[in-house]
Amino acid sequence: MVLRLSTLFLRTLREDPAEAEVASHRLLLRAGYIRRAAPGIYSWLPLGLKVLAKVENIVREEMDAIGAQEVHFPALLPKEPYEATNRWTEYGEGLFRLKDRKDADYLLAPTHEEMFTLLVKDLYNSYKDLPLSLYQIQTKYRDEARPRAGLLRGREFIMKDSYSFDIDDEGLETSYQKHRDAYLRIFGRLGLEVIPVAATAGAMGGSKSEEFLHPTEIGEDTFVVSDGGYAANVEAVTTVVPAEIDFTDAPAADVRDTPNTPTIETLVDHANAELPRQDRPWTAADTLKNVVLAAVLPSGERVLVVIGVPGDRNVDLKRIEANIAGHLSVGGEVAVEAATDEDLKKHPGLVKGYIGPGLSLDSAVLGTEGSTGIPYLVDPRIVSGTTWVTGANVSGKHVFGLVAGRDFGWDGVIESVEVREGDEAPDGSGPLRTQRGIEMGHIFQLGRKYAEALHLKVLDQNGKLTTVTMGSYGVGVTRAVAALVESNRDEKGIIWPRNVAPADIHLVATGKGDEVFAAAEQLAGELEKQGLSVIYDDRQKVSPGVKFGDAELIGVPTIVVVGRGLADGLVEVKDRASGTSENVAVAEAATHLRALISA
Ligand code: ATP
Ligand code: MG
Repeated sequence: MVLRLSTLFLRTLREDPAEAEVASHRLLLRAGYIRRAAPGIYSWLPLGLKVLAKVENIVREEMDAIGAQEVHFPALLPKEPYEATNRWTEYGEGLFRLKDRKDADYLLAPTHEEMFTLLVKDLYNSYKDLPLSLYQIQTKYRDEARPRAGLLRGREFIMKDSYSFDIDDEGLETSYQKHRDAYLRIFGRLGLEVIPVAATAGAMGGSKSEEFLHPTEIGEDTFVVSDGGYAANVEAVTTVVPAEIDFTDAPAADVRDTPNTPTIETLVDHANAELPRQDRPWTAADTLKNVVLAAVLPSGERVLVVIGVPGDRNVDLKRIEANIAGHLSVGGEVAVEAATDEDLKKHPGLVKGYIGPGLSLDSAVLGTEGSTGIPYLVDPRIVSGTTWVTGANVSGKHVFGLVAGRDFGWDGVIESVEVREGDEAPDGSGPLRTQRGIEMGHIFQLGRKYAEALHLKVLDQNGKLTTVTMGSYGVGVTRAVAALVESNRDEKGIIWPRNVAPADIHLVATGKGDEVFAAAEQLAGELEKQGLSVIYDDRQKVSPGVKFGDAELIGVPTIVVVGRGLADGLVEVKDRASGTSENVAVAEAATHLRALISA
């Protein structure tokens, strides 16, 4: 196919668009691949569609190769299935909800677990029908709080989502591994480096889950790796729990006056000045910091919780968000934020700056006569027998030598503090290093949550009805296009990998004479006959500088120039990535390029 720039629906931009924050967004707009329609919502132009189709096809081929079958669901869906799984409310503000003319509720699907489950229930009823994997490449809608970075976080985006259906856990494990392998092949073919990392299942429910993160500074996910091969999203990192300590001989705790010490720093300074230790100075790690947080439920309700963490560590709200749902016995996305003064006012038992542990229990030493009723959770490092300096729940007072498990208890243990560079990997594989990345794909073992909610059962070998177990697997297709630009570019523009480039060759005709255009036109035809796709810059009154600039911006990996050399029977073949070029006889150009591109 030959796309002529004289008629192609394309306008490249010389200036960087003000709205674009990251390179991929800037370049995709400037090179005429996409246009913004609304925040986080984009239109695809002819060149963009070509790249998108190639990326989709790589994904499709690898899904087909593991025996998954392609289907296509609507994006506009009725509320009822999502009510059955509770996601109509649990999805919170991220869900686009709408009404039809009869006032019935609909949604624009953020993901399709419910619909796939119901479709299989509709048509299948025996273990003999399983295993089954179905997929689609389809538009998803999420009213993201912060749509950003162009295609990287859109409110409308394309996802490949697949779902596996198995009769037992072993089958699910096999389906999951097949998808995992397929994902590694997909990102391998795209030339996108990805690291599979352990992840939390979050609002999806289910057990095992891994994300495929593409390492980059602009990524919104933080993950950790160890030299010994451990890799996890920070949300999923588990702390190495210290051994419990025998406290039989530990001295009794005592409450001390510590005026004007509402922060860890002022407390440590005061302790070192007024109540020094014999063996070493007090440090923040000796203190137990009790942080009051508000969990905002999908319904908008605010639930307070206090989390106790070592004073030398900061709480990590994202880690808490990923792990708190079970402690509050609510489903869905829970946002966690610092409690406001307003929140605190409702609980006179919470003395700002002097909050102690064990708030849900009566304690004479802690002055918590009558429980606050607020759940008290602790970081896994707060094990029985550890000794702390912490708030006494009385203004201007702290308690010293307070022993966990003896002087205070807790309602639950939660991963809640920042993971630090140098922390030990939970599997003993060495210290952790932190990196940032973009989530390109995510695979989940959902288990029976959706099948149970929607009653997807089949007859097993013994003729008994058994609930099916499921997996759910996503690849961000439009996000992959952006990630490809992020990792394949220079200061002049995009440098597409050959297998996703909008064309095989960008052919530029430069010069005044008709011969140049005639020769270029002929070469374009020959290339087409060789089965190559060509963007042909046939614009007559455009300067060579502009043409070369556009070619470099658009990013086809091979640029062919028909110009000055034609007098000697030569054309120039340039490699976009390296900038090197060679002269090739015009008569041999088509076969030469065919060979170059097949290589
Ligand atoms: P994120 O953590 O980035 O918000 P997610 O965990 O909500 O993503 P999943 O529900 O796991 O995403 O969706 C599967 C895949 O869809 C993701 O791995 C990602 O590649 C892609 N994706 C998710 N949200 C968006 C979005 N807003 N814009 C573009 N792609 C997205
Ligand atoms: Mg995800």
